[in-house]
Amino acid sequence: MKLILLTFFIMSSLHAETFRVLVRQDHSTKTAYREVELTDLESSSSFDGKYFQIVKGRSREPISFHDEDRDLVLKAANTYYHLTLAREFWLNKIQSERPHQIPKLIIRLNISNLFDDQGHFAHDNRDPQFNNALSIPAGRTPEWVPPGREDVWGPEIWFRPKKVIDTRTFPNDLGPNPATQVLTAMEHPLINYAQNQLQVSLIERMVYPSYSNGSYQSDLIRFAGTIALTRFLISASKRMDPLFMEKWFYLNTAMVPEVVYHEYAHIVLSDRLKMSHSTPVIEGMADYFAAAHANKRKVYAKVPGRSTSNPKDPYNKKPYSHWSESNRTASSDFVLAVLWDVRDVLGEETANKLVYHARKYLSTDSSTISDHLLRSILRSCEDICPAPRLDKLRLYEKFAARGF
Ligand SMILES: [Zn+2]
Repeated sequence: MKLILLTFFIMSSLHAETFRVLVRQDHSTKTAYREVELTDLESSSSFDGKYFQIVKGRSREPISFHDEDRDLVLKAANTYYHLTLAREFWLNKIQSERPHQIPKLIIRLNISNLFDDQGHFAHDNRDPQFNNALSIPAGRTPEWVPPGREDVWGPEIWFRPKKVIDTRTFPNDLGPNPATQVLTAMEHPLINYAQNQLQVSLIERMVYPSYSNGSYQSDLIRFAGTIALTRFLISASKRMDPLFMEKWFYLNTAMVPEVVYHEYAHIVLSDRLKMSHSTPVIEGMADYFAAAHANKRKVYAKVPGRSTSNPKDPYNKKPYSHWSESNRTASSDFVLAVLWDVRDVLGEETANKLVYHARKYLSTDSSTISDHLLRSILRSCEDICPAPRLDKLRLYEKFAARGF
């Protein structure tokens, strides 16, 4: 009886409140605002729940329902709602036990500080961050930190403020566009070829001075010319970036449902794949579960006034190239598409289980696509697939068709 009373007391101490949030419409990536109920709230006046507490910046206090910054309240409700859905997705669809092991998550909105694994927050002035989100691992300040500066924290998700950027001012380190990729892949072979040609002609000139035609100088010019040409093409193709982008770029991560699912996936997968690392495999795994949850033709599609970011396409048919392994392409949809191939072969339910299981054979340090990811999927198939021998063969063929 005592237990029943206690259970009743705990249950009745949780609240539900109605808020406006942003959702994708059924069967489309279009968005709409909808009134929904936020559940499992421990407070009746702030975003402090049993599983999630939403705070502003570096604050330790949950955001009030009545905060005068109404956009902040909208973002708080939105992240709380979609995180609750993400938690349910992992529990019910993937049948993962991980959500039960995760302590109450602190969710930081409008935080621009860099993450510092020794101090939690880097100094306010150090390279403020916008237009992205990240999940951070639990940690604590080292012992030598002066009193009053100590800090201990659990896993957290940080959503950066939105900042409108003119895409023409983009630095080139955002990752290559398709044209740059092709040309850059050609750069080394071309220069090697030109260098070899120069060496051959130098040797010819020394050994058979009278036979070689053309002058040493003209060879040098040709060699320099080859390098200059490839360099020029590469830099020119980088200037084509705006063709692949909108004029203005901004990404209000707290308002894009799939970004919320992606970050929660990092937390769940962090038992094997560290959150402090970002590789194509780790990002692709989080993208897979964000896409599996969203269940739309494309993920991270534009949200009017909130995000101009290009969507990712799980059905992308891009073949494998060594470029796919580059950390600069961690933000592309290549790994997502490879994992979606698994779904194409094995169906949704088995693929979800298999991809989740595959993380057991992956680690943060072993995460190449062509070797570690494929091997872990095939190994995982031995444990999960209904007909392992045949299914492995079918997966093999699918991967071969992608150029592996
Ligand atoms: Zn990520």
